[in-house]
Amino acid sequence: MDLIIGSHVSFNKDSQMIGSIEEALSYKANTFMFYTGAPQNTNRCNIDEQLLEKAKVLLKENNIDINNVVVHAPYIINLANINNFDFNVNFLKQEIKRVEQLGVKYLVLHPGSHVGLGVENGINNIIKTLNQVLDEKISVTICLETMAGKGTELGRTFEELKQIIDGVKYQDKIGVCMDTSHINDAGYDLNDFDKILDEFDKVIGLNYLKCLHINDSKNEKSSHKDRHENIGFGYIGFDNLIKVIYNSRLKGIPMLLETPYISKDDDDKAKVFAPYKQEIEMIRNKKFNPNLIEDIREFYK
Ligand code: FE
Ligand code: FE
Ligand code: ZN
Repeated sequence: MDLIIGSHVSFNKDSQMIGSIEEALSYKANTFMFYTGAPQNTNRCNIDEQLLEKAKVLLKENNIDINNVVVHAPYIINLANINNFDFNVNFLKQEIKRVEQLGVKYLVLHPGSHVGLGVENGINNIIKTLNQVLDEKISVTICLETMAGKGTELGRTFEELKQIIDGVKYQDKIGVCMDTSHINDAGYDLNDFDKILDEFDKVIGLNYLKCLHINDSKNEKSSHKDRHENIGFGYIGFDNLIKVIYNSRLKGIPMLLETPYISKDDDDKAKVFAPYKQEIEMIRNKKFNPNLIEDIREFYK
């Protein structure tokens, strides 16, 4: 079975998607995900048409299907907070335009945090914003991410995501991005992933599932912490993640790693080495490498 696997990669204004593609290729990935600028702010550069043409050639040469590429919206925008309604609407509309210009199909979005307004109010604010942003002409699918339930995060159950989808007028513009670390932290038991998929199908519908974030978790099920761990080094574990990645019901769905960078050594806290090449290799081999961290440090030395 052909996996569609990649990771989060960088995107900067000088090389734009060319840099992202080159980084993905260096990990031997066949897809990738990026933010169109810094994830923690909303400053964005314009898309350079010349760079874009070159990027499209590079994609073609390397058999990467743009339909499997994912953009992640900045996590600073909070659709559940109605005080930022106009800003959120304007930013999202522009972000959708950028994504359309790049030819990318999927835009992952954190639904938002109700910040004390309450679950129902928060969900209604998200719906209001999405209905103001979406129209029938948009070619992008907004993929609502399953959240860990940290603080007042919404989208921590399939039911909450379903409630959002039900309120949206253009439901064909909406999808879901399932994050394995988040669903573990939200309380779903990854020892039985088929049961999770059954539940997803029953509550939302598997046709809504457009992409996955593959991460292990630093914390136990139901911890609501949202701290990602390297593949096989956390509470979900390697075998359970392999069962997700190779599940026959997820065939053809892009899977993106967002696992933490590795530090130079145990004393140096700065995380400088991307683990993705080695993690993808481990996933392709379906064999856990207990020396992953050491191998990554050695590789980048
Ligand atoms: Fe996310
Ligand atoms: Fe994620
Ligand atoms: Zn997360």
